This record gives sequence, C-alpha cells and structure tokens, in this order.
Amino acid sequence: MSALNGSRTAFAAERAREDFPIFGETPHGKPLVFLDSAASAQKPRAVIDAVRHCYEAEYANIQRGVYYLSQRVTENFEGARDKARVLIGAAESREIVFVSGATEAINLVAHSFVRARFERGDEVVISHMEHHSNIVPWQMLRDELGLEIKVVPIDDAGEFQLDAYAALLGPRTRLVAVTHVSNALGTITPAAEIVRLAHARDIPVLFDGAQAVPHLPVDVTALDCDFYAFSSHKLYGPSGIGVLYGKAEHLEAMPPYQGGGEMILSVSFERTEYADIPHKFEAGTPNIAGAVGFGAAIDYLRGFDMAAVRAHEQALLDYATARLTEINSVRIYGTAEHKCGVISFAVDDVHPHDVGTILDLEGVSVRTGHHCAQPVMDRFDIPATVRASFGLYNTEADVDALVAGIRKVLEVFS
Ligand code: PMP
Repeated sequence: MSALNGSRTAFAAERAREDFPIFGETPHGKPLVFLDSAASAQKPRAVIDAVRHCYEAEYANIQRGVYYLSQRVTENFEGARDKARVLIGAAESREIVFVSGATEAINLVAHSFVRARFERGDEVVISHMEHHSNIVPWQMLRDELGLEIKVVPIDDAGEFQLDAYAALLGPRTRLVAVTHVSNALGTITPAAEIVRLAHARDIPVLFDGAQAVPHLPVDVTALDCDFYAFSSHKLYGPSGIGVLYGKAEHLEAMPPYQGGGEMILSVSFERTEYADIPHKFEAGTPNIAGAVGFGAAIDYLRGFDMAAVRAHEQALLDYATARLTEINSVRIYGTAEHKCGVISFAVDDVHPHDVGTILDLEGVSVRTGHHCAQPVMDRFDIPATVRASFGLYNTEADVDALVAGIRKVLEVFS
C-alpha cells in the first residue's frame, strides 16, 4: 500500500469531491481533472448555496440599516470576519481587515504602514520567489519615494536562503515582506525563523499567505507575524474578498488607505473622524455576498481535520513528484525540502503552452506561463513552466491522468 493510500484512509478526497458540482462537468467530453487550484480553487455547494441564499433571502447593505435584513446580513458579514479570525488564530476580529484579496492586502500595508513611516533610503526585504503582487507595490514606492528593495536569494532547489536573509536585515529595514508558500515553486518558507530574525531587530514581518492558508494550518499568533495576507478564492470561497490580518497596535497606528463611506465616525467639511479598526480600512460598500460565501468556505474547510488535508495533499505531491521523475524528458522546478500544493515542471523541447493545450484536450486543466512570478523564471533561466497544483478534492487518479497526458504530449512531439 502506497503512502498515498495510507493518507486516504485519513482523508476521503473522493467524498470531498462530491461536494463540488463542477466535477460533474466534462470538458472536451472528458472527466474534469482540475489541477489549477493555486490560481483559484473550485467551490463546494455549501459556498454556492450561501452566496445564493444571501442574495435570495438575506440581502441588503451592511452596517447602517436599522431593519431586519440589514441587521441579518451584517451579522453574517461580521460572522465571516470572526470565522477568518479563528481560521488563522488571530486574537481579535478587529485585527481582520476585509480587502479584495491578497493583492489589496499587500498594497494596503505598502501605502499605509510603510508610506506613513517612510524616510528616504528605507528598505523592504522581499525574496526572489515573490508573486508580482509582492513585488510591484514596493517598486511603486521605490519609484515614488526612493524605497530600496532588498531581495533574498533562493538556491537551485528553490529554498529561501536564511543566512543571506539575516545579512540583509539592517537599521534601514522598515519591513520584511515574504511569501509563506511560493505559488511558482511550492516552497514553504521558514516562517518562524524569518520572524525570529526580523523581530530580533524590531523589524515587522508581512507574510503573503495566499498559497498557505488553503493548505497548511496557519496560526498568526504562534507565528507572531505583524501582517498576514490571503484571498478567499484560493480557499474554496468567492473571489473579490480576502483578508489583511494586522496586529491591532499596527492597525491602530496606521492611517486609512482609502477614504469614503463606511470608514468614518463623523464627517464635516472641516474634518473627518475615522471609524475604529478594522472599519477604518474598509471604505465603501464591500463584497457582501462574497464575505458571506467566504465564511461558508471557512466552515467547509474547518469541517475537515487540517492536518489530514495537509497529509493528503503532501502524499499527492510526493506521488506526482515520483511519477513525473520517471519521465526522462520532464524537469521539475522547485525541489525544496518543505513544499506544498504545487509542482512546476517543463518537458524538454516542448513549449509549456503546447503541453498545456494538449493536456486540456485530455480534460486536464493545468496552468502554463510565468505564474506572475517572472523573477523565478529568470532565476532558472526559463520563460515559463507547466504548473499542476492540488486542492483537497484531487486524487491519485488526477495525477495518473496528468502523467498519461504528458505521455501523449511526448507522442505528439516525437
Ligand atoms: N500571492 C501569491 C503567492 C499568489 O499565488 C497570488 C495569486 N496567484 C497572490 C499573491 C495574489 O492573490 P489575489 O490575486 O487573490 O489577490
């Protein structure tokens, strides 16, 4: 019995799969093999039903209604905030700011926290395996204010280089902003050590947890990070909603990032008094039904033992790595010791887009390209990879279909 079979007894992916209506679809007449959850995960019926119920039965604008529907939907919206708090182990729900996703969360930290404390020549430390959403906001501050960006190198396996990181921390470092899990390589970064080394110098840490929260048990209190960003849509919830976790002391000291309704206590033409956190950062009408669906997604995920989900996805990753390694012309990028969720590879002499197109005709959905992490591609001197990524609904049969599809690619290009 393989390790994977062992893990299946702990986590029944086939049963979880039945919760996702999309697996009834047959693209190109083939059963759907969905291996692109790192881009966006599929939605269980519980999430779809929660969004539908919100619009059909409990919809109004939030926060300001005295009437039943507004109060009901406000409870559901704020309930989702508390579910997000519990999911990541935050102490208080006022430390959970609803944003449109990980991208907005990082921009909020850049344009509020860093900008407000900025002096010319200050630095932010990122890594070589960041998603563009954790590169471009810092470049915008660099171009506007003169922020210096320091980049922690990765080695050939895609491991975060802790010694080099420690050497980059200095008196001008305003923030460390690194990914918790790389979307292009699957590397899990040494988060606890990253925080320990930064805090020893009183430097705050932001983690981009977009690829971590759906797959790993995350506890921001144990990690002691200052900020943590993630998106609902990678976590089986709706798109257009996500979280910036921030320690209350930071959020309280930060200026609002956008002005408008919902984020004020009082407004006159002379002055505005801002609302308390987190509302100070939530200007305008938010994605109400999205938040309600996000809450349902968190309930869904928490219905499983997260350690069992992690073990299942790890077993799938190990199985996929073993099967792809058997094919001589396949090269895997990202072989870090601790990985999750993602396997990036290339097939010799075949462009990744051609691999993706042939796989698609076999019913296998994978992502091809630079995965919004072009510096990673530059690091390995390649234009793109094929990326297969896993969710809790994937099975060994999905990996077998991927391998069969790659053999088809080799036949076509032989
Ligand atoms: N960071 C990482 C590591 C990601 O994988 C992604 C999404 N691909 C993002 C940030 C951005 O997330 P979103 O598009 O949901 O804002």
